[in-house]
Amino acid sequence: MAVPAVQQLAQVISQLPPLDQEFLYRRLERLLQPKLSPQVVVDFREKRFANGFRCPHCHGTHIHRHGKYKDRWRYRCVDCRKTFNDATASPLAGSHRDIATWLKYAKCMSQGMSIRRSAQEVGVSVPTAFYWRHKILTALRNLPKPSLTGIVEADETFFLDSQKGSRNLRRPARHSGAKAPLRGISHHQVCVLVARDRQTSTVSEVVGHGRVTAEQIGTALDGVLHDCVLCTDAASAYRTYANEKEIPLEALNARRGVKKRGIYHLGNVNGYHSRLKRWIRPFNGVSTKYLPNYLVWFQRIDSMHNIPRNVVANRLLDHSHTPMVFTTTKDLGCA
Ligand SMILES: [Zn+2]
Repeated sequence: MAVPAVQQLAQVISQLPPLDQEFLYRRLERLLQPKLSPQVVVDFREKRFANGFRCPHCHGTHIHRHGKYKDRWRYRCVDCRKTFNDATASPLAGSHRDIATWLKYAKCMSQGMSIRRSAQEVGVSVPTAFYWRHKILTALRNLPKPSLTGIVEADETFFLDSQKGSRNLRRPARHSGAKAPLRGISHHQVCVLVARDRQTSTVSEVVGHGRVTAEQIGTALDGVLHDCVLCTDAASAYRTYANEKEIPLEALNARRGVKKRGIYHLGNVNGYHSRLKRWIRPFNGVSTKYLPNYLVWFQRIDSMHNIPRNVVANRLLDHSHTPMVFTTTKDLGCA
């Protein structure tokens, strides 16, 4: 229970006009930002090696200390003889900036901030901000997929294929905001499959161009569904997939006016589609190449929508340090 003075303060704040509350919120956020202690660094290390201290190159466990380099311990793996430090194969690998700067950057990401604005906010160059974004997201994509159980709603949503930023355009350039050249669903549209259970665990993946096939559904959902009833629209690909895998299916034929059958509907997955589209719009036509990264980004943010921003930032960075992923500027297409 808060002390009376704090209760009084809360009472005063609740009576302020919304704009003053917003102003106060920003001031407090800055004021109360947790100071980064050496403990944070230790925490990162512990989370990173939560399943045991392993070599990021060969996963060997026979490791010796191998001196220090730029204040970081180096280690040497006896099995593959390669050296590494705590940040090897993590987004921080090769970065000269400290964790505090990365956390600040993760906070920009938690707010869905543009590259340019994040670069300004954190004090790094625009290419660095771009590189950091995709290093974090590439790592997040390497986390294991969640398990979906109970009623699992699955449905596709489409994004216009965009080769934005590509040097070898396979077709004539299109202006941003343009419509697809063909009506309806065509190979100009990138198909994203979203499956979501009622506990709101979500899998969202780019599965291909045009209409989804049973094979693509398998690529996205094999190994993910457990003890579930799959709830979809009437597309035959779902029926084929569910039959093959012997998964109970509730197919709703909206064209025949069946949008709901008892507790079965697609409200949750379609709500997710709308939030995703709204969130991605300010990025002005995400390049198809990077779309999987934006999907994982939105998924993380959406799953933490009721958590304070500082905590979201912390978790984004934390989670991106769990998988061992080697990424280079070349891999990310920004060399
Ligand atoms: Zn090794």
